[in-house]
Amino acid sequence: MSKVRTRYAPSPTGKMHVGNLRSALYEFLIAKHAGGDFMLRIEDTDQERFVEGATEIIYRTLDKAGLLHDEGPDKDGGFGPYVQSERMKSGIYMEYAKKLVERGEAYYCFCEKERLDSLKTEIVEGKEIMMYDKHCLSLSQEEVEANLAAGKPFVIRQNIPNEGTTTFHDELYGDISVENAELDDMILIKSDGYPTYNFANVVDDHTMNITHVVRGNEYLSSAPKYQRLYDAFGWESPVYIHLPLITDENHKKLSKRSGHASFEDLIEQGFLTEAVINYIALLGWSPEENREIFTLEELIQEFDYHRISKSPAVFDIVKLKWMNGEYLKAMDFEEFYALAEPYLRKEITADYDLKKIAAMVKTRIEIFPDIADHVDFFMQVPEYDISMYAHKKMKTTPETSLEVLKELLPLFEAQEDYSNDALYELLCNYVKEKGCKNGYVMWPVRTAVSGKQMTPGGATELMEVLGKEESLSRIRAAIAKLETEKEVSL
Ligand code: GLU
Repeated sequence: MSKVRTRYAPSPTGKMHVGNLRSALYEFLIAKHAGGDFMLRIEDTDQERFVEGATEIIYRTLDKAGLLHDEGPDKDGGFGPYVQSERMKSGIYMEYAKKLVERGEAYYCFCEKERLDSLKTEIVEGKEIMMYDKHCLSLSQEEVEANLAAGKPFVIRQNIPNEGTTTFHDELYGDISVENAELDDMILIKSDGYPTYNFANVVDDHTMNITHVVRGNEYLSSAPKYQRLYDAFGWESPVYIHLPLITDENHKKLSKRSGHASFEDLIEQGFLTEAVINYIALLGWSPEENREIFTLEELIQEFDYHRISKSPAVFDIVKLKWMNGEYLKAMDFEEFYALAEPYLRKEITADYDLKKIAAMVKTRIEIFPDIADHVDFFMQVPEYDISMYAHKKMKTTPETSLEVLKELLPLFEAQEDYSNDALYELLCNYVKEKGCKNGYVMWPVRTAVSGKQMTPGGATELMEVLGKEESLSRIRAAIAKLETEKEVSL
């Protein structure tokens, strides 16, 4: 068995979408699982679609995601150049195209635009495709040479017979056979001398010893033409794995509008790289055991491409959020704090201990932007209704709460130590003396200092952060509020 070599072969045409990242991840995992090499090749022969800066996005994304390549434009492994426009300069594509011409598997075509425009078109998979009528295949050797000598513009086309069928094999889809008559004589070399994407891809995968190709199933329809090229050269084709489409929750193609189209967008929305990678790994692949959380290392260990499924994968942002939350819970606190700090600073402009607040929210948020909703009350108690003091299970009402708060106020005023532990002890002593349940006291205190039904910490944890002065002012305000609003409701 030859060494496993996979490649991620992006065309630099924009951001790195979830589907692209999944192909890259699977290629990386297949290589690393087998102790092989993962290569980066830039497919930039389609100059019209080239987007400035897109190559940098590819590097940045792979690097951030930890999908480090063993070979690539910046890392020579003896198979370079790794950028197709540079490979072209050596004449490699033209050389291989000419080999096919010699074998009768390709031919020069000098047809001009007007003639091509007059040819009939067919609708294939919703796209209008022109089926070339092999007009130039009948040119004699002399005619071809004369045209070339005269500098007539030309393309080189693949010669696909009108009869018979072509069969290719895909790991997920099995053997697929198509009638040759349905395949058009696709262009291999364009009139500007550049190879087409399809041709360069085949030549490069072979000459770079690629053993496994993973890509989106939008390429499935080109696969038979690839197979014919491999057969024409007498090359063994790599293992092909065409991945099912990733759809959104409504089973529509992922789009920018649905908010989860590119890796960078997800990171910007506050997701962790590790969670995104973990989640994307499961978009079409399932491990043997029923488990969902995997580090990249663990994915390398477990990844068996035979377990990739061909049913469409649904990108479920709710699931991704849950997974992100699991990563946050498991994260080392200092690392969490470093990432959470900017989000906390945006909300908390007072001089509170942000680390304490971070420790409170760590297990409660799914993504960092959730922090805002959990901590807003630290800056200001929101408007609330005194009915919030009523809690069935705690047996509290606005009236019992007012009584408790009034009794506690002098104790809180006299208290010097505002640490969570000391305050908690104070409340426990009060509870004991009163002979009531904990919640009967904790509920009104927490409501008074936060104005919220749900807070990231208990009453005394919140008071520790707020400090004596602010805590007292909130409790006094709550007493005043309960007194006035109680009168109003009487
Ligand atoms: N250059 C192609 C793309 O960006 C790669 C397809 C393939 O992996 O063969 O989609």
